Amino acid sequence: MDKVDLLVVGAGISGLTTAYFVGKERPQWKVVVCEGAPVVGGTMQTSYHEGFIVEHGPNGFLTNKPHTLELCRELGIEDQLLPSSDETRRRFIYTGGKLREIPLNPVKFLFASNILSPWGKLRMLGEFFMPPLKREVDESLSIFAIRRLGREVLERLLDPMVAGVYAGNPDQVSLKSTFPTIHNLEREYGGLIRGMIALKRERKREGRRTGGPAGPSGELTSFKSGVGFLPKEISKRLKNNVLTGCPVESIQKEKNGFMVLTSKGKRFEARKVLIAAPAYAAAAMVRGLSPSLADELGAIPYAPMGVVALGYSKAEVGRPEGFGLLVPRGERLPILGVLWDSSIFPNRAPEEKVLLRVMIGGARQPELAMKEDNELMELAKEGVRITMGIEADPLFTEVFRYPKAIPQYVVGHQKRLERIEEILKQLRGLFLGGNAYRGIGLNDCVKNAKEVAHSIMGNPLH
Ligand SMILES: Cc1cc2nc3c(=O)[nH]c(=O)nc-3n(C[C@H](O)[C@H](O)[C@H](O)COP(=O)(O)OP(=O)(O)OC[C@H]3O[C@@H](n4cnc5c(N)ncnc54)[C@H](O)[C@@H]3O)c2cc1C
Repeated sequence: MDKVDLLVVGAGISGLTTAYFVGKERPQWKVVVCEGAPVVGGTMQTSYHEGFIVEHGPNGFLTNKPHTLELCRELGIEDQLLPSSDETRRRFIYTGGKLREIPLNPVKFLFASNILSPWGKLRMLGEFFMPPLKREVDESLSIFAIRRLGREVLERLLDPMVAGVYAGNPDQVSLKSTFPTIHNLEREYGGLIRGMIALKRERKREGRRTGGPAGPSGELTSFKSGVGFLPKEISKRLKNNVLTGCPVESIQKEKNGFMVLTSKGKRFEARKVLIAAPAYAAAAMVRGLSPSLADELGAIPYAPMGVVALGYSKAEVGRPEGFGLLVPRGERLPILGVLWDSSIFPNRAPEEKVLLRVMIGGARQPELAMKEDNELMELAKEGVRITMGIEADPLFTEVFRYPKAIPQYVVGHQKRLERIEEILKQLRGLFLGGNAYRGIGLNDCVKNAKEVAHSIMGNPLH
């Protein structure tokens, strides 16, 4: 039996980052990470095929939040960062049977774009005059959008965004938990338009880039060899304390900590334990320790997703210019959107080739995400044929399937987190981390991982 000070379950970005910070601040502690898969990184994986650099999940992080950049600086790997090309700020929506660019400039969006009807635009502008809600509510994105912006904004802009980025359904996801910034605009500034004007002024004063209707502020950034590089680098810093192919089966309470059992029969006596595996996996591990904690964790829903990478010859399909396209559910297409990976980061495909990634399923069409590889490929090809007019056969394809891709912060998520916190108080020494609780983007995972590290070391940041 091995004795450790901290045992971390899960070597995704969340678990690795916490292990790294604790190891750095407490060099006298023995910190071990147990990862169930044969490789580290969780959903941050990259594969390489004849000059194509293919992301299985995330393709980068935004620099409007400092957390991932700061981590890269600490690790001394800034020279490996890869900023996206400028054209990435061009984003498209497939609506009314056509691919339409979302203008960056709000004035152009109102006067030159036909993504919304004139009535839809008027309804959206009416938001300026709408009083804010007086009390704090946990409402779905749909209810919020219909209340303040109108149904067209929901159906043509917000629905495709939440489906493409979070694999979510706007009728279910909580505005407060999934989009806290939007929620706070109403609370702090009295409305979205008022808040956006105020923030734009602030950012202009500070000389920062601002977001617009097309997308968030900040620059999408990755690594020259793909996002899989980052977890591997963190893992290197943890030396041989990261055990891959080592799934944790159960965690039991002991007098001075916990007993952690792996499915390979290995046992650890740990003073403290951080579970940074997905919530459904955490639920299975703690069932014997606390059935009520297991019930709360097991109730966090996940949406499935299929990701199909398609490599083409540039001569046959041309080179799309921009970030990619999203599809509202009203279009009834079998895809959520397409990322134009080799336009975002040109080194993702060889010269004269193009790499696209098609997102399928999500909470909108969960049954599609789990289809066989060849069926997913056909759906992806149909999607790019309809939206981008691509008839050519791909030179290269790769399919990634996630039965539980992204946790859904549904209405009631915040209350669930409060109940989980209460239970954890009784289980001193047990901590939870990962994307199931307080943010899904890589920046959120890194930020939360650092906060959890401080709590583990006994000096919480808040
Ligand atoms: C398709 C897709 C695209 C995305 N795109 C972006 C993007 O462009 N930008 C962005 O910022 N974010 C993106 N995200 C979100 C982001 O990638 C994730 O939120 C983040 O990587 C989650 O990291 P994590 O460490 O919390 O969890 P994970 O990466 O899920 O890691 C959890 C780890 O726990 C391990 N584990 C599970 N069970 C056990 C067990 N019993 N014992 C031991 N280990 C176990 C797993 O094998 C895994 O390695 C995307 C996500 C997906 C799925």
